[in-house]
Amino acid sequence: MSGRKNDVLIIEDSMAITILLRDFLKKLGYDNVESCTNGKTGIRVFSDLESAGKKPIVLLDFHLPDMDANKIMESIFNIRPDAKIILETADSKSDEQIKNALRGGAYLYIEKPIRFENLKNVFETLEQEGIILEGKPFNELERIKSHLKSFSRISLARLSEYSDTENELLQKYLSQLENEKIVMKISDMKEISCNQCNSLRIFPNFFCPACKSNNFVQGKLIEHFKCGNVSVEDSYKENKCPKCHKEIKILGVDYKSMDNYYICKDCGDKFPELSQDYVCVRCSNRFPLEKTKWISSPGYKIV
Ligand SMILES: [Zn+2]
Ligand SMILES: [Zn+2]
Ligand SMILES: [Zn+2]
Repeated sequence: MSGRKNDVLIIEDSMAITILLRDFLKKLGYDNVESCTNGKTGIRVFSDLESAGKKPIVLLDFHLPDMDANKIMESIFNIRPDAKIILETADSKSDEQIKNALRGGAYLYIEKPIRFENLKNVFETLEQEGIILEGKPFNELERIKSHLKSFSRISLARLSEYSDTENELLQKYLSQLENEKIVMKISDMKEISCNQCNSLRIFPNFFCPACKSNNFVQGKLIEHFKCGNVSVEDSYKENKCPKCHKEIKILGVDYKSMDNYYICKDCGDKFPELSQDYVCVRCSNRFPLEKTKWISSPGYKIV
């Protein structure tokens, strides 16, 4: 498998968002990005790319001026049933609407304003799942093997989701692979899943405990005992305290240094630990650890 990235097709009527997406995708190494501003052109371009042997990942705006997003998805799935469509929507939809979109075949669902950290995870997940198949149709067993290769150990539930294969059928394949000594069954794995769509495609999200912003940096804080000032190391220009302008002299005597602090760039708060919750890559749902659903299933180790 070469490192060549998939083509991407953006169907989006806002030029501003298209430009942002393009720049962002370029940074991730996606050089072949097509874009169009309405559904009809989008379908035509998708069809052209398919005819040229490409397998574009589609970023589809939920609200387009000319066509309903569900209709566009339908047309795209007619051209390629396993197309990967990422839906973007401006307003927070109800759980039911999200579930509908996913049932309609959308691979993932993201909310605007687009959080680029989230989108990065989406594309990394796509790659990790081995969807970049260079146009060769895999048979089912080969496809599962290629999924297995990206992991040293994986649970049945995750493999089932990533390879889009029913548990029962998958277990049949896995026992065949066990016989061939390609995989080995290990103890059950307990994993965190989304409490809205049950997906295992979730990742931790870190934020400022005071204002919930993701805009923080890690740094060293210095406390000046004399005046009580606590601020980042950089603020002590030429060893002078930014508050009282006196020089700081001996570590441990007139000042102390605190390593590995986080400094919020939005509210200015400083904290030794970040708050954490989880974001579902599949439906954008955000939830705290205590609200997660745990899924337990047999684990497999790649021999
Ligand atoms: Zn979810
Ligand atoms: Zn903050
Ligand atoms: Zn001071």
